[in-house]
Amino acid sequence: MTDLNQAVETDSAVYKTLLESTKAIPWKIDWKTMTFAYIGPQIESLLGWTQQSWISANDWAERIHEDERETVVNFCISQSQNGVDHEADYRALTKSGDYVWIRDVVHVVRNAAGEVEALVGFMFDISERKKTEEQVLRLQKELEEFSYKDGLTGINNRRMFDSTLQIEWANAQRTRKPLSLILLDIDYFKQYNDHYGHIKGDDCLKRVGQALQDLAVRPRDCIARYGGEEFVLVLPETDGQAARQVAERCRKLIHKQQIPHEHSNVAPLLTISLGVGTIIPAVDDTPLSFIEAVDKLLYRAKQQGRDRHEQATFLGEPQVGRSDQG
Ligand code: GH3
Ligand code: MG
Ligand code: MG
Repeated sequence: MTDLNQAVETDSAVYKTLLESTKAIPWKIDWKTMTFAYIGPQIESLLGWTQQSWISANDWAERIHEDERETVVNFCISQSQNGVDHEADYRALTKSGDYVWIRDVVHVVRNAAGEVEALVGFMFDISERKKTEEQVLRLQKELEEFSYKDGLTGINNRRMFDSTLQIEWANAQRTRKPLSLILLDIDYFKQYNDHYGHIKGDDCLKRVGQALQDLAVRPRDCIARYGGEEFVLVLPETDGQAARQVAERCRKLIHKQQIPHEHSNVAPLLTISLGVGTIIPAVDDTPLSFIEAVDKLLYRAKQQGRDRHEQATFLGEPQVGRSDQG
């Protein structure tokens, strides 16, 4: 044996030891036969499949989670055909039936003529990283939900209402379709708190919020807690007549809850008053002035005896309407 041969042999033994002692799992696939020329023995401790069980590229494909199998296989084949190094993340099936997230980093080996000869690569176990990523995503989603949810009632909060109104205001300006807004306030809620206590008061707000949430509305409609014991509904593409129907449904829905309110001056049960406004916003109208106008209607409903709605449309000359008590 020449010195050179011996050196090469010593080198490859060193390389083999190095390759088989890393956490990353080395492998080689012969491109023509699509069979494994090599895979590191570490694969068995990671996935449970023996080194010998990796025979063809099919063994690899079949052990990819079916949700991403086709995409990953097609991507790797097309990148390899084009001679482009690449990497792919996928869930690999373990012998016990679980999945491990793998990042496969692939280098395309070409011969002197430039033809693809083999693929060599490393598989990395990225399950910890994926777990963290998934946790972060879940937390982000939760945070997003929380920041648009009212802490007490669990329905949309003021922030959601503000964003929705802004979007629907612009839509209404563009489409010239009527936008309706209902402001809804519990009658004599101060007396409710004084008589039943703040905890019962909170429970009552939850019940009202939940009842309104369950109100059958259209997908773009938005129900939110406006603050305190006031709630709000944004009803896009809704004219005055339809908005009045929704308002009356709300009022009757609260009656149906039969929440006792002994110290109310209107009825022995909890009632609400509503302001109902409809607008096709002109360029110089603002959402704020619309809310103020609807708030005035709510105030008028209170003055007129509560447990009722007051309505106006702002489509040119305001037209005022009202509901009867009962
Ligand atoms: P009106 O019929 O004129 O609306 O009378 P009201 O007593 O309902 O009106 P007012 O606005 O004076 O009182 C609202 C009360 O709602 C006062 C406040 O203690 C109560 N309130 C506001 N937010 C909460 C809350 O989160 N929990 C509880 N329990 N009460 C609240
Ligand atoms: Mg109030
Ligand atoms: Mg009130």
